[in-house]
Amino acid sequence: MPKINVLPKNVAELIAAGEVVERPASVIKELVENSIDAGANFITVEIKRGGITYMRVTDNGCGISFGDVPTAFLRHATSKIKTDEDLNSIGTLGFRGEALAAVSSVAKVEMLTAPEDSMMGTHYVIEGGEEKLYEEIGCPKGTTIIIRDIFYNTPARMKFLKKDVSEANACAAVIDRIALSHPEVSFKLIRDGKQTLMTTGDGSIKSAVYSVLGREFSHSLIETEGEIGSVSVKGLICKPFACKPTRNNQFTFLNGRLVRSGTVVAAVEQAYKNSAMIGKFPGFVLYLTIPCDTVDVNVHPAKTEVRFSDEKRIFDAVYSAVKASLSVSDTRPEVKLNTPTFNPFQHIKANEYRQQVIGEETIAEKVYEKEPKKVTFNQPNDFGFVNRYSFVAKDGSKLKPMTKEEFKETVVTPLKAEPIIEDKPQIKVIGEAFSTYIIAEMKESVFMIDKHAAHERILFNKLKKEQKVEVQPLLAPVSVTLAREEYDAVINNTEALENAGFEVEDFGSSCVLVRAVPTFLTSEDASSVISEIASKLISGTSLITERQEHILSTVACKAAIKAGGKTSILEMQSLAEKVLLDDEIMYCPHGRPVAFEIKKRELEKQFGRIQ
Ligand code: ADP
Ligand code: MG
Repeated sequence: MPKINVLPKNVAELIAAGEVVERPASVIKELVENSIDAGANFITVEIKRGGITYMRVTDNGCGISFGDVPTAFLRHATSKIKTDEDLNSIGTLGFRGEALAAVSSVAKVEMLTAPEDSMMGTHYVIEGGEEKLYEEIGCPKGTTIIIRDIFYNTPARMKFLKKDVSEANACAAVIDRIALSHPEVSFKLIRDGKQTLMTTGDGSIKSAVYSVLGREFSHSLIETEGEIGSVSVKGLICKPFACKPTRNNQFTFLNGRLVRSGTVVAAVEQAYKNSAMIGKFPGFVLYLTIPCDTVDVNVHPAKTEVRFSDEKRIFDAVYSAVKASLSVSDTRPEVKLNTPTFNPFQHIKANEYRQQVIGEETIAEKVYEKEPKKVTFNQPNDFGFVNRYSFVAKDGSKLKPMTKEEFKETVVTPLKAEPIIEDKPQIKVIGEAFSTYIIAEMKESVFMIDKHAAHERILFNKLKKEQKVEVQPLLAPVSVTLAREEYDAVINNTEALENAGFEVEDFGSSCVLVRAVPTFLTSEDASSVISEIASKLISGTSLITERQEHILSTVACKAAIKAGGKTSILEMQSLAEKVLLDDEIMYCPHGRPVAFEIKKRELEKQFGRIQ
């Protein structure tokens, strides 16, 4: 039998350190959290070689008094809790009193710290758990802590570290998350001498998101806010068209701490149903505030999954906030065109040309004042002007003299004659591309509308609003044979089908009889609609409202005009008006967008009219 030994203090500490200090990123997390707990609003983090050789965290927090410095490096030394009761209402980030002890046992640590009210500060050096220097020194208010050569005394652990880049990325990810959770603190990250992140610390979530997640992500965001009882939700969610195939951009902060919560993710994704494409996930940055005693955070520091004592309330609060924001915001996607870098047809820039020929004023004004000047357009164009009141076709064949008035009429005010309706913005249908996309102009934008998706959404909304669907009995009932599962689904949902305008009867041996369909379907549609509904009912949930929506969306899809089919100009006009003037019609029930917007400004930029 081997003898049982009590481990020497330094070995015990090394083992304990392994739990807290796994890699440079975990050190950065502990140190930055300490800075935040110390009330700092300006924190600089510097790392070299992924933090393996050097990490520095400087803050302008409360500092540590001379006498307390060595204590801070002892195990279970903390200023954040005193009794076991404090554990239930923990408001600060770290509280186990382990971080500094752990780090100093596996690295070379140097600290410079000064409290605000003190004339002098402290210079402290501790390596591998051994105090090397402890002296008074003049230094600015706040704390700087430098960690050198992590795991220098535990080579085994050193081996587990990844490449410098991976370690550096992990450190950066830690700062990203902390920066998102504390928009009121300005963070700076310096990586091998280069500044890679700087947040403003102005308290605005938007600017923190902008700095951390980048411009593209922050441009597609909607603000959201809501409250149920003591649960409050606030933050930013992405517009449905900006949903991504991964869940990487999902951040939940609970009382200021990044957490993972299946409940929150499920609530958000549920709210996007019908507006996000299937297989795509919404990005969000949500901040939840709940009383400390209703959440279990007393888990291992490396774990972020949380449990709530009232998951349902959390779900409801998140779901209703997100759902409400999605329904009121203009979530229509806008097309950003790439600025062209090279255009073989363009010999002269549009604004240069304008400068040269007519200055900043309009064609109509200038053309009468200036001496005649011949301009040949390089862009495809119908004419160039040859002298004051004349046009010539590009091939030079037709010279058509015009009066000043006629010219103005043609070029400057072609829309003059159209009626202007005061309160409703005017919508002009320009035409249709590929018999599928209606092109329409409204205010300062051009819209491309998917006519099938638009019609489908309009019908779907109409069906959802109407309590009673008009039913059309079929002259001859249509029999539909279904797969066993589908048949069961239909038979078990005859009531839901009836609400949607279908009269379906059990005909035995996997067969149903369709006796009536909604008025805008025909008997030819009956068979395919019923089998489509059946397959959706199988894959869907058991929620009655959801089943109803499946049925209605199938009906809407079937009844809607088809892409590629012929559509009259009047129909296009009516569709465009419904889509552009009704905020509820942004996405088809399957979540595909219904319209894209191209702003006039974007076009002008594209053509070099403006910069
Ligand atoms: P914990 O944060 O769990 O209390 P730590 O080992 O991380 O334990 O820190 C020990 C103590 O040292 C803290 O409770 C705090 O009083 C003090 N401390 C650590 N870092 C800072 C800092 N940057 N500014 C002020 N005080 C600090
Ligand atoms: Mg700590």
